[in-house]
Amino acid sequence: MAAGAAPGSGAAPLAPVALLGRCPRCGSGPLFSGVLAVREACPACGLDLRAHDSGDGPAMAGIFIVGALAVIAALVVDVRYEPPLWAHALLWPALVLPVSLLVMRLAKALLVALQYRHRLRGTAG
Ligand SMILES: [Zn+2]
Repeated sequence: MAAGAAPGSGAAPLAPVALLGRCPRCGSGPLFSGVLAVREACPACGLDLRAHDSGDGPAMAGIFIVGALAVIAALVVDVRYEPPLWAHALLWPALVLPVSLLVMRLAKALLVALQYRHRLRGTAG
């Protein structure tokens, strides 16, 4: 059994699948067809990915993780450097938007991989 693989599941190792956005079964095919859109099927192994719906989980990860870090960082920057308000208005959206997309992509790949490992199916579709 490969390290990190669920017993008897035939699942690819979790960390590379989540970090690289790969198919949860073969670990080589791309999971996403866009920034956050999951493919209908894996082009490498043919796994049907339509039933694996992560729902609002990735958005919640983005809100709680990135939102909390952004508020803390904004407070620290404001207290330490006292920038004008327009600097905050330019800086934080430019940092928060790409980091949120990255966190949501990682969370979506992780949730789809966990659903596959535990044979869970989403409710959509
Ligand atoms: Zn695959």
